[in-house]
Amino acid sequence: MRVTAHRPALFPILSPPAGAGQRRTITSWVRSRSAPRQVAAFGPRTERGGAPGPRVRAAGGGGAGGGRGGRRAGMRARTPRTSVKRDGGSEQRTPKKVTHMPDNPGAVLPGTAARALADELRSSLRGEVIDPGHPGYDEARRVWNGLIDRRPALIARCAGTADVVEAVRVAREHRPLVSIRGGGHQVAGSGVCDDGLVIDLSHMKGVHVDPAARTARAQAGVTWGEFDRETQLHALAAPGGEISATGIAGLTLGGGFGFVMRTFGLSCDNVRSLEIVTADGAVRAVSREEEPELFWAARGGGRGLGVVTSFEFGLHPLGPEVAGVLVLHPYERAEEVLRAWRDATYSAPETVTPELLLWSIPADPAVPRELHRSDCVMVGAVYGGPPGDAAAAALAPQRELGPPLMDLSGTVPYVALQSANTWRFPDGERYFMKSHFMDELSDEAIKTLVEWHSRRPTPESLIVVRTLGGAVARVAPDDSAFAHRSARYNVSVDAGWRDPALDGTAIGWARSAWDALRPFSSGGTYVNFAGLGEDADELRGAVFGPHRERLERTRAAYDPEGLFAPAAGRP
Ligand SMILES: Cc1cc2nc3c(=O)[nH]c(=O)nc-3n(C[C@H](O)[C@H](O)[C@H](O)COP(=O)(O)OP(=O)(O)OC[C@H]3O[C@@H](n4cnc5c(N)ncnc54)[C@H](O)[C@@H]3O)c2cc1C
Repeated sequence: MRVTAHRPALFPILSPPAGAGQRRTITSWVRSRSAPRQVAAFGPRTERGGAPGPRVRAAGGGGAGGGRGGRRAGMRARTPRTSVKRDGGSEQRTPKKVTHMPDNPGAVLPGTAARALADELRSSLRGEVIDPGHPGYDEARRVWNGLIDRRPALIARCAGTADVVEAVRVAREHRPLVSIRGGGHQVAGSGVCDDGLVIDLSHMKGVHVDPAARTARAQAGVTWGEFDRETQLHALAAPGGEISATGIAGLTLGGGFGFVMRTFGLSCDNVRSLEIVTADGAVRAVSREEEPELFWAARGGGRGLGVVTSFEFGLHPLGPEVAGVLVLHPYERAEEVLRAWRDATYSAPETVTPELLLWSIPADPAVPRELHRSDCVMVGAVYGGPPGDAAAAALAPQRELGPPLMDLSGTVPYVALQSANTWRFPDGERYFMKSHFMDELSDEAIKTLVEWHSRRPTPESLIVVRTLGGAVARVAPDDSAFAHRSARYNVSVDAGWRDPALDGTAIGWARSAWDALRPFSSGGTYVNFAGLGEDADELRGAVFGPHRERLERTRAAYDPEGLFAPAAGRP
């Protein structure tokens, strides 16, 4: 049966490849439970998931690690606080590890020092300097994850590289705790800190595309949605993340998984050069030729080296339409679908990047009510080339994994694909993500995945299996600091919820699921999905593996006094 869809909410309605049928059409609509009903529209979701729950103060910020030297007189060492949350007047104690950042060295900026620093910054910055008395302070300190509620002493909202140089100079002189904010999307909220200085790049939004050279230079406050919008004017793309609101900076510096990574590599693999302000205040142009060690480190190990102000990406011809698969399978067949999907990934060509999500169908008025919020298996894949017969043939095995609930495969504008799921991760709700790399997805691992998914605390929580390999694996292991080239899969456990009362339950579920999957892990974790308040030393080992020592040497060479050590010590 064919039904016409109007606007996508669940995911873009992918119309069939050119010539294979009508555009914007659901190509098949097979339902296992009752007679098929028309899906008139996965209408655009207007509300963004409701207001965030009451914001709670992030617990403590004290602890050890990372604080090499550099505290000046007038600074005091942070003492760990008890994690107390206030929810509607009642006090609720939560385990400290929930929101605590134990690897935060915590140089607290007392009022007088903060005022001196603010005065100095105000006299030298073109951008705004925001302190707790500023009317925009609460908005400026907010990050995407509503679980995070930090109160920096100052936010230096930089307008350009010169502002960053000034902010770094002042930081070097006064030695506050420093955090660097790009898009503000890291689950751990590491772009903001308590009582310290935030070097905020989120208003640095320049993007310049050179279509002839197939490159784009973008400043560090740009999000992937903003970047794609510019590059797609020329039907060019650099592989970015799967959510358009995510910052290009944090994502690229940690590696960068996306819908076309098997074809074009990680985001960091497409960086040609970058500009960084290091702890000495120098503005460095970094590439394979210039500062090659920094270039090596910045691609996958880019936190804690300095402040990256812009990236130059190589671009690939892609879009404006791309072909993809999105098939929803009934949850009852989850294990069977996962096994078949795994087998299909073995023979997937590099042009195809498969992904599988154990999730739920949103309560969208356009979806048959009986399917609302029901668990399902989503099989997705994108073809990294032009839509057409070759794309359809390469994608076909991803569509043929048994009778689906719905098959939404077809073509879609690349920019729509890149933002299709953004609304499902609204700003201000509460999140926690952790991941494992895996070399194999054994039947036992699949069983464990499904078992833990079925225990998830909220319909917003999901488990995602991404397929690596292809162009990701072709890059030599020592080419960059990204340490997991050979892994075949990344499995992330993503808890999402609204009610602060669920903090312990939701984070507990994600941690327990992650623990249960540990026996199947190849031993590594992805810095961009690295939880919150994890043990910093263990995390560095899991994230950087064999590259850790070299990375630490590089960081020490460019930041001998550890100005950016806090950023290096946590995701
Ligand atoms: C909803 C959602 C979806 C996601 N999807 C994907 C995905 O598809 N693929 C993927 O790979 N990841 C994904 N991520 C993870 C994402 O890559 C990380 O959260 C990343 O850190 C986001 O970058 P940001 O600039 O927005 O973060 P921020 O929170 O601003 O930055 C994170 C950290 O990066 C460092 N940093 C940021 N900017 C700079 C800079 N200019 N110079 C130096 N250091 C800097 C700082 O240490 C900072 O604390 C997703 C995250 C979310 C929340």
